[in-house]
Amino acid sequence: NLSDKLDKAFHILKGHGKITEVNVAETLKEVRRALLDADVNFKIAKDFTNTVKEKALGQDVLTTLQPGQLLVKLVKDELTELMGGDVAGINLSGNPTVILMSGLQGSGKTTFSGKLANYLLTKKNKKPLLVACDIYRPAAIQQLYVVGDSIGVEVYSEPENKNPVEIAQNAIKHAKAKGFDVVIVDTAGRLAVDTEMMNEISRVHKAIQPQETLFVVDAMTGQDAVNTAKAFNDILNFDGVILTKLDGDTRGGAALSIKTVVNKPIKFVGTGEKMEAIDVFYPVRMAERILGMGDVVSLVERAQEQFDEEEARKIQKKIAKNEFGFDDFLSQIQQVKKMGNMKDLVGMIPGASKAMKDVEIEDDAFKHIEAIIHSMTPAERSKPSLIDVKRKARISKGSGTKIEQVNQLMKQFEQMSKMMKMMQGPGGKNLMKMMGG
Ligand code: GDP
Ligand code: MG
Repeated sequence: NLSDKLDKAFHILKGHGKITEVNVAETLKEVRRALLDADVNFKIAKDFTNTVKEKALGQDVLTTLQPGQLLVKLVKDELTELMGGDVAGINLSGNPTVILMSGLQGSGKTTFSGKLANYLLTKKNKKPLLVACDIYRPAAIQQLYVVGDSIGVEVYSEPENKNPVEIAQNAIKHAKAKGFDVVIVDTAGRLAVDTEMMNEISRVHKAIQPQETLFVVDAMTGQDAVNTAKAFNDILNFDGVILTKLDGDTRGGAALSIKTVVNKPIKFVGTGEKMEAIDVFYPVRMAERILGMGDVVSLVERAQEQFDEEEARKIQKKIAKNEFGFDDFLSQIQQVKKMGNMKDLVGMIPGASKAMKDVEIEDDAFKHIEAIIHSMTPAERSKPSLIDVKRKARISKGSGTKIEQVNQLMKQFEQMSKMMKMMQGPGGKNLMKMMGG
């Protein structure tokens, strides 16, 4: 993938104490190839490497002590810039705020409508209304109801009405009457850009004049994503892009190109099918991720968000008093599981995604661990030093695991206790240092 390629590219530099202009050119050629492989548009990739080259030569990269690092920084900064520089917020100034979803069928509009509603409800204290304007498939309306039910958000629909403009207008009236402050209009898409779809979304757009028109696009469609974005932008002049399905192997070539081609910011990314799998798009983090530095900042932030603060304080006290036991370990595991899919998490740790590439990570990677801890007595859990060879044998039998698995857990527990002590530092800085190192 791209990050492997870039690793290789930077590796060329590391071998030389001092780089020559030839080395820089070689490296940037490799960078360009990597970008192309990640589905970045040819011209953008070329312009990109040219810009970095100019800056690199201008900044005396050839005589600096650590030219490799400087070039990495330049590439990173430039990637960040290419993806929009700063975080682009969402405009919630309307009364109510109307948000229109656009995009092809299967791009993730309905799913993202739900995620956004959930985000606005739980993080921004808003009262959102979801509106079903996909009138072609009864199943589409049903899907939005399932989504709405799962997050406790009302859905507005008119199953008999075949006019999406009317439905959207009525929904806004309903929202005003009932005190909803955000109206999220989910629309129909088709498998490819076509005139009828464009006419319809354009009519809805004109009629309801949304504060935010969002274009939803599947990141896995690569180069096509850019073409589709252009077609929709020509008609709607949309306000922002939502990049979905950024979980899995997608490295985000689309993110690199879209901003340049349509000059619209990417506002959110979708990273899974669950309602919580939504992230604000941070250009700098995306650049780091692409460069294989891992999305450490996101990881730490997500960890902080998900870890129950009270629980964390309790545990901190226990660690300080050396009373951290297996019950606490178990509750930590439960917290980690709440953070989301293990594969996603591993992908955020620098180096780990590469090392774990061929390892199949079960979603329930903690099953054995939980079984072992459950087979311990309360005394053993609170005082792990009690667990001698005899007790280990009993625990292994009781939990249906091998004695090596019990040993391994004991070792992991020790390591984790140590790690938690390190994590006590301000802002989890130590954690980051550990992961980076
Ligand atoms: P729509 O036709 O544009 O409304 O697309 P849907 O919201 O129905 O999504 C199409 C499929 O993509 C569904 O199976 C979703 O569960 C899935 N999907 C949507 N967003 C994501 C995402 O961020 N990650 C993954 N892995 N799947 C997603
Ligand atoms: Mg849909």
